[in-house]
Parts: sequence; C-alpha cells; structure tokens
Amino acid sequence: MANGVVKEDLKKNFEEVNPGLNDREALEEAYRCLYCYDAPCIKACPTGIDIPAFIKRIATGNLKGAAKTIMSANPVGASCARVCPTEELCEGACVLNHSTKPIMIGDLQRYATDWAIKNEQVLFQAGKKNGKKVAVVGGGPAGLSAARELALFGYEVTIIEAEAEAGGLNTYGIVSFRLPKAISYWEVQQVKSLDVNIQTNTKVGVDITKDELLNQFDAVVLAVGMGKVPSLHIEGEQLKGVYDAIELVKETKTKELTDEFIGKRVVVIGAGNTAIDAATCSVRLGAENVKILYRRTKEEMTAYDFEYEFAKQDGVEFRWLTQPKRIIGDENGRVVAIECIKMKLGEKGVDGRRRPVPIEGSEFILPVDAVIKAIGQIRHMPLIEHFGLAHNDGVVQVNPKTYETSVQNVYACGDVIFGKGQGEAMVVTAAQQGKEAAYALHQQLSESVNKNV
Ligand code: SF4
Repeated sequence: MANGVVKEDLKKNFEEVNPGLNDREALEEAYRCLYCYDAPCIKACPTGIDIPAFIKRIATGNLKGAAKTIMSANPVGASCARVCPTEELCEGACVLNHSTKPIMIGDLQRYATDWAIKNEQVLFQAGKKNGKKVAVVGGGPAGLSAARELALFGYEVTIIEAEAEAGGLNTYGIVSFRLPKAISYWEVQQVKSLDVNIQTNTKVGVDITKDELLNQFDAVVLAVGMGKVPSLHIEGEQLKGVYDAIELVKETKTKELTDEFIGKRVVVIGAGNTAIDAATCSVRLGAENVKILYRRTKEEMTAYDFEYEFAKQDGVEFRWLTQPKRIIGDENGRVVAIECIKMKLGEKGVDGRRRPVPIEGSEFILPVDAVIKAIGQIRHMPLIEHFGLAHNDGVVQVNPKTYETSVQNVYACGDVIFGKGQGEAMVVTAAQQGKEAAYALHQQLSESVNKNV
C-alpha cells in the first residue's frame, strides 16, 4: 500500500509542469501582437509558421484556423510549442523585445494546438493519389513531416518504425512533464489520417531489407534520427546503477515509474538537453541529490538556457570542469562512488571550442548511488551501412538542395544528416528538413514522370 502511495506521488511528478494559457490570458496575449508586416518572427521560425496570422485567428476566436496555420507549416507544431527554444527563435526576433516583452508565441501556439487536440480535430486531407509509393524509414519529427507532405501530394506513404509507436524523440525522448506522449500521438494521428500506413516494430536490415524497400517503393526517405548514448570508455560502466539517459527517459514514458531513485544520490554525465532531462527526471523519481558533471564550463554547455534554468529550479547542482575517471562498485556490483578529475580549458579544438585538459593530481571521489550517461547519442551505423550510403563518421552525406544520398532513390533528412557542421539538431529543424526532402523528392519524381511521357 505504502509503495502504491509512493508510486502515485511519483506519477504526479511527471504531470506536465507548464499549465498553458487560459482563455483570457491567450486572448490578452493575442491582442498585444502588432501583426507586423514582413514579420521577423516568421523569418526566425525554421518552419516559417505565419505567426501573426495564427495569432490573429486566436484573437478572432478561430482556433481551428489557428491550429491549421501552425500545423500546415510544422507537422509537429504541437510538440514544438512545448520544446522549441523560442527565446532563440521566434520570440527572440519579436519586435516587442525592444519596448516591452515579446509575445508568448510558444504558449499561443500551444493554446491553439491544445484546442485542436482536445476537440479531436483532423486538420488535413490526403491529396489525390498519384500512383507513386514512398517508404519513410523512421517516424520521428523528420519522418512524420516528410510523410505528411508526401501524403498531401498524393503519394502512397508507408512509415517503417522500429519502435512500438511512432513519434520518435517526441514520443520517447523528451520527459513527459515537458511533453506528454498524448501530444506526440495526436501528431502521429494527423499523419495517419492521411492514409499513411505506419508499420511499427519493424527494423530495416532485420525485418525488411533495403533491396525489398527499393523494389516495393519508388523512393525511400531515411529519417531515423539517433541511437543510444555512447560508452564513456571508463572502468565500471557495467555496474548496477549505471543508466543510459535516453533509455531512462524512455522508460519513464513507457513503463511504470521505478522507485529505485528514491532517496538516492545521482550524477549525470554531460550537459546537453538530454542530460538536463535525465537530471530533472531523477529529481522527480525521488532522488535526494542530483548533480550534473561536465568537463567544460557553462559557456560550452549545449543545453538550452531555459532547460538549464528549469534544472536549477528543480535543485539540480552543476559541477563544471569535472570529468569522470572511473565508476566504483561494491562487492555486489552496485555503484557506490565515482572518481573524477578537475579540468581546465586549453587551446581551441577543430570545433572552435576550447578543449578541456585534466589537472594532474586533482582526482577526487564522489559517493553516489547512480550514474546516468548523457554524453550525446550514437549514429545508426548498421543501418547506414546496410543502405551503403556515403557518410562522414555516421553523418549521411546528401545533396543539400535535393536531400539525395549517394544511393539512387534514397533521400535522407533529420538527425541522420546532422553533425560535422551540417544543420542544427532541433525538433523544429528536423521537421523543416522533412518537408524540404519531401518537396525535393516530389520534384525529382515528377521530373522523371514528365521525361518518360
Ligand atoms: Fe507579433 Fe512580435 Fe511577430 Fe510582430 S514580431 S507579428 S509583434 S509576434
């Protein structure tokens, strides 16, 4: 019984933190918008949402119209309303930054899309079938976006998804207290409603081959995103109490919440958005103390500022210039401590960031009960190799205009082409790339049809 009560408490911790705007707040905020001509907020949105238009629709009570304006430009616009770094994008560009405060564009976007979700709106209709078939490998933001646009053009689209549900990062990788699964499911449903077939629990290279795909479909769009967290390459990674941040977040969204973290001391290694998610997740799972260890400083941290502030409000501590050396276990193979070394910043590396250098003799031991690895994500190398695609350390090479890979009729977009100075890893940029890949593919296939006439 006591355990049941604890689990109920934990569940409450995972309810969405931001309550969103109420009707009055949304209207007041919408009325503040100046509906700028040549609005800078539109230009700052990677998907080019017509922001003044959707805000005007909210102001005039046309919430379906507002949601449609948002979702037509961004097929994952309901998720992006919650996870976009708006202060760096649309809100950062709002002209009202110069006088009062920017329009709360993200919150208004959420208000309109929440209305559509609550009222079970279906916003789009599939285009007239054009007789062509496309397979989209991966049903995350980029894949859903490509599939949606292709379905609107009239393609028969099948999404091949390795997981039990589509949605990718939005379904599994972002903590539910910031992005509940229901939001991502609705976006998936919008795509499904265009007769898009979503084949889940299917791995390319295992359940179906690339040759079978290329025989069955006119083109393939590879939009698989990223995989697990890489190894730290230190002693003790196999101990009980060492977690992969991506897996941990996924478990909180798919399984009953664990009580293993209650009263525990947790360290998270890394300082990106996933590290912040893992740290705030640990707090909500009842950890007594949560520290983020990062080998560089706050300036080099890749987490968004709002994520950092959110973690601090949750009581997460940050230990800058600290690198783990080994994880220490007890006789039962459970984590009891982590040995770290202090770092200093040295010369700039090839990525332009100053490289962290260990300070000899500065080792120290931190007693901990759990270690969460959050130092980035590995690429889906077996899949990239299965397709035989040209790549640069796992970053698939594409023609930047046409999104064509080195293999004929295979296109790629999203995180699978991000990295090595190419693109930016945001949900919203993945969504835009999905759209652009769909337009490029449509143009190529239309041209080949015309040539053959
Ligand atoms: Fe409205 Fe700000 Fe965009 Fe102007 S820049 S249209 S005020 S949201």
